[in-house]
Amino acid sequence: MRRDINKRQAMEEINEFFKQEEFTSENMKKIKRMAMKYKIRLGEYRRMFCKKCLSKLKGKTTIRKGYKNIKCRVCGATNRQRINLNKYLLT
Ligand SMILES: [Zn+2]
Repeated sequence: MRRDINKRQAMEEINEFFKQEEFTSENMKKIKRMAMKYKIRLGEYRRMFCKKCLSKLKGKTTIRKGYKNIKCRVCGATNRQRINLNKYLLT
């Protein structure tokens, strides 16, 4: 897959990608590669996929000490995400 696109187009493609309800780890891999190539930060989007198998993150969620632990239903890896309390307190 070789295409000539600019950074803005790449960002648009990434935004579109994460609007989907479901995505495969194959496609996620492509998006991640694209983000790296164009030096785009995935930011909040990082919470949407499993760090290990890159599939859409779904599974048992436990909350502990300011962290949300989500156990991936595909590979069983635990994804730890910090809960930003300030976001809720300041708005
Ligand atoms: Zn996983």
